[in-house]
Amino acid sequence: MKSIDTIYIKGQFVTPHGAERFTLVDPVTGQEAAQVTLADEVDAENAIAAATAAYRELAGSSREQRMAWLARLHEVVAVAEEELIATMIEEYGGPHGISVATSKRAAASFDQARTLLADYPFERQVASARVRMEPLGVVGLITPWNANYGMICSKLAMTIAAGSTAVIKSSELSARQTDLLTRVLHRAEVPAGLFNILTGRGDVVGAALVRHPGIAKISFTGSTAVGKSIVRGSADTLKRVTLELGGKSPTILLDDADFDKAMPFIAAAATMNSGQACLAGTRLLVPRARLQEAEQGIVAAFQALKVGDPRDPETRIGPMVSATQYQRVQGYIRKGIEEGATLLLGGTGLPHGLERGYFVRPTVFSNVRNDMTIAKEEIFGPVLSVIAYDDEEDAIAIANDTIYGLHAYVFSGDVARANRVARRIEAGRVFINCLYDEPMAPFGGFKQSGLGREFGIFGLEEYLEPKTLLGYEQSL
Ligand code: NAD
Repeated sequence: MKSIDTIYIKGQFVTPHGAERFTLVDPVTGQEAAQVTLADEVDAENAIAAATAAYRELAGSSREQRMAWLARLHEVVAVAEEELIATMIEEYGGPHGISVATSKRAAASFDQARTLLADYPFERQVASARVRMEPLGVVGLITPWNANYGMICSKLAMTIAAGSTAVIKSSELSARQTDLLTRVLHRAEVPAGLFNILTGRGDVVGAALVRHPGIAKISFTGSTAVGKSIVRGSADTLKRVTLELGGKSPTILLDDADFDKAMPFIAAAATMNSGQACLAGTRLLVPRARLQEAEQGIVAAFQALKVGDPRDPETRIGPMVSATQYQRVQGYIRKGIEEGATLLLGGTGLPHGLERGYFVRPTVFSNVRNDMTIAKEEIFGPVLSVIAYDDEEDAIAIANDTIYGLHAYVFSGDVARANRVARRIEAGRVFINCLYDEPMAPFGGFKQSGLGREFGIFGLEEYLEPKTLLGYEQSL
């Protein structure tokens, strides 16, 4: 069994001070896969000291230097892509297709940051003043297991572009990916301390970063509950905080939409990453007059999704990441049945033909009311709720009746109408008759789906602080 026993501080692989061992389990078999030694608060302190020293040494690094570091990081990650994808799939069971897409995006994020940096105006004139965009200092980057390697790359790319240094706290469920990625990033030979990487518990290492006065900002991706604890924990030091949190995204199928064309997109959006995606479209709002047709269409689209071995490129739905997550999803399916929703497809237990692992049956509920638990809470599994609406106003009201506001999807035969509806949805991103990614566009949530934005210029500016110089040309 693999054993992961190092963390990365000041450009070196060191044995953690922490002694707690964590067992990683293969989600396909349920067998133990690796042992990890977790970092602790002392390791966090050492990593912060290394990042602080590096920030002082590298202060004033030129745009060209930072662009060169980003180019090298891009190169080493791109070269190691195959190995990174394989580890990601093995570790958490992410289906092949989405793992490849995540991986490509991860490598590209260094290149995108470099492109942004090439002509970002760090200094600009505002009326009589000169405004300089300054780096923040040492930032703490905290990542979730479901997008760990991609998030490390994209957050680190922006940190470097902005001129800061980082302490990265990755999810303990992603220790293998993180270990491999760290070794890959090390090959870029960027200055020691520019980034430091720890795998440890959130309530130990994560919380230590959040409390620490030497950390200027936390960029966090994870659950809304932990996001709120980060806001509370960072209050004493008034840190800058960016939060990318959970969602319960609506898909509005308007009555003029071509249902046959829309259903494959809707099923893919609902089950993205086996349903373990913050942006999954898990509430399908359909016109009451076409409910039956919509039910048949979505069941057929779900049935077409292959469940099984995540290494198979045909597989769309792999296992849940852990036994805990598997049990959580089973609990939500039972809750849906208890609360009176109609089970159209799936249910509890393992899918047909699979005898082990954390696989969930792709599940579709209909006759769901928006106040039922399965329509309100993020399930993080391949479970879709079909909710009927009376008219467009009703659809918009139901779509917005949620604490979340991460993504939304609108399908219509009339693009102008779809755009009108999209404008009224309270969400950070709305997909209109499509499902694709634009990595230069801002990503983030309204309401309890987050604070701030990531990616592109909006993302870069979350890592910068404006400083206004008045009388900057004045001599006494
Ligand atoms: P999580 O909130 O349990 O953990 C995320 C990270 O925070 C982990 O590294 C964890 O160790 C750490 N953490 C836990 N407690 C902490 C604390 N008290 N202080 C500091 N750090 C702490 O989330 P998860 O289960 O790893 O990931 C799934 C969640 O992430 C879902 O809710 C999903 O919607 C969300 N997510 C959001 C986005 C987005 O961009 N909006 C992307 C991916 C995942």
